Amino acid sequence: MNPARKVRTRIAPSPTGFLHLGTARTALFNWAFARHFGGEFILRIEDTDLARSTQEAVDQIIAAMQWLGLDCDEGPYFQMQRIDRYREVIAQMLDAGTAYRCWCTPAELDAMREAQRARGEKPRYDGRWRPEPGKRLPAPPAGVEPVVRFRNPADGVVRWDDLVKGPIAIRNQELDDLVIARADAHEPGGVGTPTYNFCVVVDDWDMRITHVIRGDDHVNNTPRQINILRALGAELPVYGHVPMILGPDGDKLSKRHGAVSITQYDDDGYLPDAMVNYLARLGWSHGDDELFTRAQLVAWFDGSHLARHAAQWDAAKLDWVNAHYLKHTDDAMLAPMVAERLASRGIAAPADGRLARLCALYKDRCATLVELADWIGMHFVSVQPSPGLVAAHVSDAVLPALVALRERLAEVEWERSAIAAAIKRTLGEHGLKMPQLAQAVRVLVCGRVQTPSLDAVLEGFTREQVLQRLAGVRLRI
Ligand code: GLU
Repeated sequence: MNPARKVRTRIAPSPTGFLHLGTARTALFNWAFARHFGGEFILRIEDTDLARSTQEAVDQIIAAMQWLGLDCDEGPYFQMQRIDRYREVIAQMLDAGTAYRCWCTPAELDAMREAQRARGEKPRYDGRWRPEPGKRLPAPPAGVEPVVRFRNPADGVVRWDDLVKGPIAIRNQELDDLVIARADAHEPGGVGTPTYNFCVVVDDWDMRITHVIRGDDHVNNTPRQINILRALGAELPVYGHVPMILGPDGDKLSKRHGAVSITQYDDDGYLPDAMVNYLARLGWSHGDDELFTRAQLVAWFDGSHLARHAAQWDAAKLDWVNAHYLKHTDDAMLAPMVAERLASRGIAAPADGRLARLCALYKDRCATLVELADWIGMHFVSVQPSPGLVAAHVSDAVLPALVALRERLAEVEWERSAIAAAIKRTLGEHGLKMPQLAQAVRVLVCGRVQTPSLDAVLEGFTREQVLQRLAGVRLRI
């Protein structure tokens, strides 16, 4: 690449469904690469598949990019708004002789391929409408709309040094004369709908894309796109084809393996920074670093150390990364996120200092915001301990101690160390061990037996809540 060119990368999703993990990872790589070099990152919506593209998918793609924090410098551009430009370039190529009209009908093409197969040859377009010096072309048949084909070089080799896969060479003889406009021009001498590979080429050219990092399902398109770019006299971008993401069973990651849409991870309580950190490690590494900030990613992501082998999705690792980010996110920042989640469950919990303190209390044991909200919810709605838990832990032996503790808690300063002292004195007076009393209190107040330190948990409730939840035991004495 010409070093004087400013780095410009793009993500070019087709809005035929939600932004899935593979595309999000590709977007992240392009974004990080552009940011690393102080370049620009562009969003282009490849919406020419009219039957399958939807506005909903466009909205979802944009929302997912925003959630991940992958800010674009340009776009979204929409290919459907650029059709005239593609037609214009095709017309120029027809004039220049780098493209030509082909009047083969689908039936003729079928027959051509059939005959080639019968002869044991690889089916390919036989070039019957391809202009060659001294060749006489047949007269265009009446009533047949032509397609436009790119006049691919007949000989030689297309080479590029792939950022991920290293040097790649494809012989031009392997490449057909690609259809670049369909046979739907509707007016004599017009140009029909441009095809996908062609639109990509014109866009990458017009948008001055310097680096194309994309999934390796596109690697077969690259030699064709390079040839067309050359025919246009365009400067070539650097290509990098990243291997796909596999599910834990080694198959291509799909819905079968759980959520594949990015926004689903938002719903499931993952933090965008954690997601970015986790996705970056799928097919890229920086030494042994597993946890890093966005700034570090940008500082390190220079296009090297992209893995040649497929990455494997690991839900447990994502949980581990997310747990790390939860732990290191400010409680005051977590509080509104938890409040929002609780609100969606119909639980009103103001995002105040108390909620922040509860986040501090529970976040160490949570992998997601959903789990954190699960814990904190019990501080805002009444809990119904299961009869089994009550029978197992609220035994007759602890009832008098529970009554005494309740009386004491009605008096003490509502603060952790005072609560701890009240528990301790009650234990001493009743000759009980900590777990006997603590489990009974946990069951009655929290509806569960495992919680962080009891005094801290009780402090997280109001005194009235605790007294009320312990009050039930009096009925049993
Ligand atoms: N629209 C293509 C896709 O969604 C991407 C094309 C490209 O990156 O060149 O797979």
